[in-house]
Amino acid sequence: MAAPTVSVPEQREVTYLERCGAHSHIRGLGLDDALEPRQTSQGMVGQLQARRAAGIVLEMIKEGKIAGRAILLAGQPGTGKTAIAMGMSRALGQDTPFTNMAASEIYSLEMSKTEALTQAIRKSIGVRIKEETEIIEGEVVEVMVDSPASGSAQKIGKLTLKTTEMETIYDLGTKMIDCIMKEKIQAGDVITIDKATGKVTKLGRSFARARDYDATGAQTRYVQCPEGELQKRKEVVHTVSLHEIDVINSRTQGFLALFSGDTGEIKGEVRDQINAKVAEWREEGKSEIAPGVLFIDEAHMLDIECFSFLNRALEHEMSPVIIMATNRGITRIRGTNYQSPHGIPIDLLDRMIIIKTTPYEEKELKSILKIRCEEEDCEVPADGLSVLTRIAMDTSLRYAIQLITTAGVVARRRKSHEVSIDDIRKVYSLFLDEHRSTQYLNEYQNEFMFSEVSPKVSGGG
Ligand code: ATP
Repeated sequence: MAAPTVSVPEQREVTYLERCGAHSHIRGLGLDDALEPRQTSQGMVGQLQARRAAGIVLEMIKEGKIAGRAILLAGQPGTGKTAIAMGMSRALGQDTPFTNMAASEIYSLEMSKTEALTQAIRKSIGVRIKEETEIIEGEVVEVMVDSPASGSAQKIGKLTLKTTEMETIYDLGTKMIDCIMKEKIQAGDVITIDKATGKVTKLGRSFARARDYDATGAQTRYVQCPEGELQKRKEVVHTVSLHEIDVINSRTQGFLALFSGDTGEIKGEVRDQINAKVAEWREEGKSEIAPGVLFIDEAHMLDIECFSFLNRALEHEMSPVIIMATNRGITRIRGTNYQSPHGIPIDLLDRMIIIKTTPYEEKELKSILKIRCEEEDCEVPADGLSVLTRIAMDTSLRYAIQLITTAGVVARRRKSHEVSIDDIRKVYSLFLDEHRSTQYLNEYQNEFMFSEVSPKVSGGG
């Protein structure tokens, strides 16, 4: 087969969020600079221990320090496991792939379980492909910093060259620095921008002497700069996933499959060729691997074959970080007659970092419900919020969240902007929670078809 072509789309949608409605209020993990969780921040409330642990994992992912690790979020239903994973996804940003799937998605007639997992894994590995070009006036260019400490290149922001005569404006992300340069910056020049102070220093081509300019543009002093500390280049970086490169180069699918999502199975030899090509790019300094995150919700739905496949996959040099979530206790491992904690085989559990989530206290439930009311544009006065909190305590957080939307509809029907306690009472009586539904079935099950449980056995409640 011919060598894979290198054509890749300009920009890709990295984040695929399922159940996005339920977690739309989550905008990050809500941590401060010291990675300490704030009680309420970025839509996240409480669950401090788990958020602290997730923050450390997140930092390691961002620094590219971990790949091929598995993390398990374990805890009772509705304790924010998925919310924490979503928080991590938002905090990671566009440049690090995050794939979100429910374990049951692997059971499809279109492809084998291992193929579905392989695709999910390869969707979670980003390839940053670099292209260098000449700088043209008026263009936005990336600034690369060769940090003397790490010896590696680090991107610090964007440099906008709007050269009119001798004036150059630097735009470092949010910070605008105007400065008058005595000489025009040209391609191949070496400049330095101090991220903290915003000071711009042009080192010239020889790296030997430099003029130092402060943010106001006044020339302050001459300084001797460390040789070759910074370099200006225009570099365009495309981030694509290994899966996208697979699909583009797969003879049977073609790139149009990327839009339809109907990628089918991809041949092993295509993947081998892509791996070889990417390794070549890495060696030539044309690309970097960005291990991302594969999040598998409801992990207990995976079976023994999937677990053993994942165990192997984690050992591969291009493995993402795999985060799983489950609300199961000791239960049967799917596909076997053996029981195990969380329904996950002991050998896989043994290599996992386990983060546990715990039930919420009343005031945390109230804060989460308040955030959800705002998110759903429902005005609920303090007494209504207290009633919802009470319901969340007695039934579940999820049920109380459902009541916000439904009570909002009832309030709008009576042309009110505000949800009253009566609205909440009404929807509470219309829609049963799990406990009342079980009670009802226990009372009336004889009138249903195929009722098999004796009336004495109480379920769920
Ligand atoms: P399950 O085990 O049933 O899948 P879960 O632990 O994954 O549950 P979530 O789906 O994350 O629970 O939480 C239920 C709802 O409560 C979601 O809408 C979620 O966004 C919200 N929620 C949970 N915990 C928090 C939190 N700490 N801060 C803000 N919102 C939260």
